[in-house]
Amino acid sequence: MNFLAELQKITKDVLLKKEDMYVYAFDTSQNPEKLILPLAVVFPKNTQEVSKIANLCNKNNISIVPRAQGTNHCGGTRPVENCIIMHFSKMNKIINIDNDNLIAIVEPNVVIGDLNKELDKLNLFFPPDPSNLAVSTIGGAIALCAGGPRTFKYGNTKDYVINLEVVLADGTIIETSKNIAKNVTGYNLTSLFVGCEGTLGLITKATLKLIPKPQTRLLTMCYFDDLISATKCVNAIIKSGFIPSTLDLIDNFTIKTIEKFNPCGLLIDKEAMLLIELDGFEASVKYELEILKNILEKNDASSIIQAKNDIENENIWKARRSAFSALSQLKPNVITEDIVVPKSKIVDFVLKTQELSKKYNIITAIMGHAGDGNIHPNFALDLENETEKNNFKNLKDELFNFAISIGATLSGEHGIGKQKQKYLHKVLDKNAHILMKSIKNLLDSKDILNTGKSI
Ligand SMILES: Cc1cc2nc3c(=O)[nH]c(=O)nc-3n(C[C@H](O)[C@H](O)[C@H](O)COP(=O)(O)OP(=O)(O)OC[C@H]3O[C@@H](n4cnc5c(N)ncnc54)[C@H](O)[C@@H]3O)c2cc1C
Repeated sequence: MNFLAELQKITKDVLLKKEDMYVYAFDTSQNPEKLILPLAVVFPKNTQEVSKIANLCNKNNISIVPRAQGTNHCGGTRPVENCIIMHFSKMNKIINIDNDNLIAIVEPNVVIGDLNKELDKLNLFFPPDPSNLAVSTIGGAIALCAGGPRTFKYGNTKDYVINLEVVLADGTIIETSKNIAKNVTGYNLTSLFVGCEGTLGLITKATLKLIPKPQTRLLTMCYFDDLISATKCVNAIIKSGFIPSTLDLIDNFTIKTIEKFNPCGLLIDKEAMLLIELDGFEASVKYELEILKNILEKNDASSIIQAKNDIENENIWKARRSAFSALSQLKPNVITEDIVVPKSKIVDFVLKTQELSKKYNIITAIMGHAGDGNIHPNFALDLENETEKNNFKNLKDELFNFAISIGATLSGEHGIGKQKQKYLHKVLDKNAHILMKSIKNLLDSKDILNTGKSI
């Protein structure tokens, strides 16, 4: 029996038509150099089906590209030659929320925003907050170790995963730990699978650590007349030992673009804004606010505005989260980069980005989780236009090489995928890279799991 017939014996939830394959040839990362169609798209309903499919693919040397919502920026869900797409959309149940032990057990395709809506009812909280949390999933976030504005205070996805059920390349099912908050019994296998971009195993269940929901949130929009003062202020806040829950930077171009497509009253004549959120008990937030105002005033803030209530607070965040789609209205393609620089070098990186944007005449919007040194320059361009395409290629090379020269790393939360592999050797320790390849070889000797992505 041929491979596709055997696949359909495991599940009938398989797409095979050519027109369907085109839909899954893309993800949020921009225009692939070469269009590759998968052989099939399969929708497993449970761990057993995932295991049987992995085993079948392994025997037949067929690659598996795991896919959740396909919103990654790194080409992580793009098909490769001779592959199937394993789409996890049918594994989307919240299995249990355990209020006493502060854990949630979920299937991989639970949407982060939906999980938090359920947790909210119990005054609980799962902090990792990628800007597209209304659609992005726990499985995708774990595979990429996603983060967001709140990473500054709360850490990113890796800090909230305590146990995983994973299907290995040959179909073996493993549990990496136990459903308890602390466990140093044996190696930390959970960490191995967080951020591995689906190259080491297929996540079929996750146990997540929860925390109590902060009682109060207070958002301050702090504006500056120049971008450099804003970045210097970030450093001043960090040096003062003060940890707000978010410390996000947005430049004037991004402010204007958000206001154009999703108006929410941001000050468009200001060169930069910091979105600073404080959270915790009401009394401590009030106290921290006084300290914060003092730092902001001393550091050339030209306007300090507080969100009036939770609704306004949420509207501002919604607008900030809409930045990518707002930029997408300007040009056919928007490419989001994800560089992490040492916090002391944020100014240098921002200046270099602006210089290269002018040199290569590419529309550039700068934002990022400045508290972590995680800057997202967004480039709006038309990749069908050869001049723009070449200019962008040169811009990216110069920017990445500059970033690496000041001690940056290639990704803080979006992953490597297909997009950044050419710079890996400049950043990874040579022996560590060899060890990573040995681990991949040990777990997936036929290289069928997300073949050609990440390391
Ligand atoms: C507008 C926008 C804003 C964004 N903002 C942020 C942000 O603030 N922070 C951030 O970190 N990211 C951000 N992202 C990037 C991305 O959406 C997130 O990283 C997200 O976590 C990916 O989720 P997804 O469900 O779409 O996963 P997908 O894109 O489908 O998959 C992501 C990776 O996980 C693998 N994978 C998926 N499911 C599994 C599984 N069950 N087992 C094994 N591997 C699996 C895939 O192969 C792929 O490599 C943003 C993207 C967009 C479009």
